[in-house]
Amino acid sequence: MELSVIIPIYNEEANIAALYDRLRGVLDPMGLRYEFIFINDGSRDQSLALIHTLASRDPRVRYIDFSRNFGHQIAVSAGLDLAAGEAVVIIDADLQDPPELIPQLYQKLKEGFEVVYAKRRSRQGESAAKKLTAKLFYRLLASITNISIPVDTGDFRIISRKVVDALKQMPEQNKFIRGQISWIGYRQTYLEYDRAERAGGETGYTYRKMIRLALDGITGFSDAPLKAATISGFLVSAIAFLVMLYTLYARFETQDYEPGWASLMISILFLGGVQLIAVGIIGEYIARLSTNVRQRPLYIISDTNIPVESVPQPVQ
Ligand code: UDP
Ligand code: MG
Repeated sequence: MELSVIIPIYNEEANIAALYDRLRGVLDPMGLRYEFIFINDGSRDQSLALIHTLASRDPRVRYIDFSRNFGHQIAVSAGLDLAAGEAVVIIDADLQDPPELIPQLYQKLKEGFEVVYAKRRSRQGESAAKKLTAKLFYRLLASITNISIPVDTGDFRIISRKVVDALKQMPEQNKFIRGQISWIGYRQTYLEYDRAERAGGETGYTYRKMIRLALDGITGFSDAPLKAATISGFLVSAIAFLVMLYTLYARFETQDYEPGWASLMISILFLGGVQLIAVGIIGEYIARLSTNVRQRPLYIISDTNIPVESVPQPVQ
């Protein structure tokens, strides 16, 4: 198998047929042995039925059906676990990532790179808020991590077998695949593209899922927030100490003091806020520690047509 195409699916009934056609239009002329891997991430629409139909007509269509919605990153991870290809493409189902870029990505890979990611030159049809938060997030992440996670880049990319095998060795439960791939290293390069509008349907990425992904990216690749909590603790203590000295000075030396309701309230509120933030940051890390300690399987497969022994067996 030369190429596997991993496609996470969450309520994509409007896009599956068009996606399959466009992918075939691009992949068939390449003359490779390839497979599609559709991961149905607990869709509540007709996505699974459409995938079944494709699979019955085309033996290259492999699928995994999750027992529920596990999230985009886990769906991609499952695809990576089961992909057989020497090269693997990760692509969104909503045609925001143009399949037409795949031959160029593949070409670059053949030139000796292990990872070729597709960088968004522009994004169409997404809200200003989404674009702005994404832009800020990628830059914040780049500034606080010590690995270079490329900015404005999603998971649309091609990776080699080496990188897939390295990813499979990374046991974390909170996946942030684009960060993990940067962490792995090897020769990486990118191509630029203009991100299209979603072809049909609606985004499956709610703000809640976006925030979780952002926190997974930050906590998985940086301890900066923990350090910031410590530093702000020291700063606030230093300020409090100075204020304390001043209070004593005012009380005993100048005798010029007010029954200080305002200063009291302000310092209590401020200290309370800083403490809660620091506790919250620590909590984010501890939550992820405990998730990993539980050692649960990353996902549960309810059905698949991939005949492999080495993969997690379908649970009936
Ligand atoms: N997706 C998924 N599980 C989810 C949410 C999304 O598998 O819980 C898939 C979705 O079907 C699509 C890809 O992940 O193929 C990207 O999602 P989406 O287009 O909704 O995100 P956006 O482009 O709006 O960031
Ligand atoms: Mg999309």
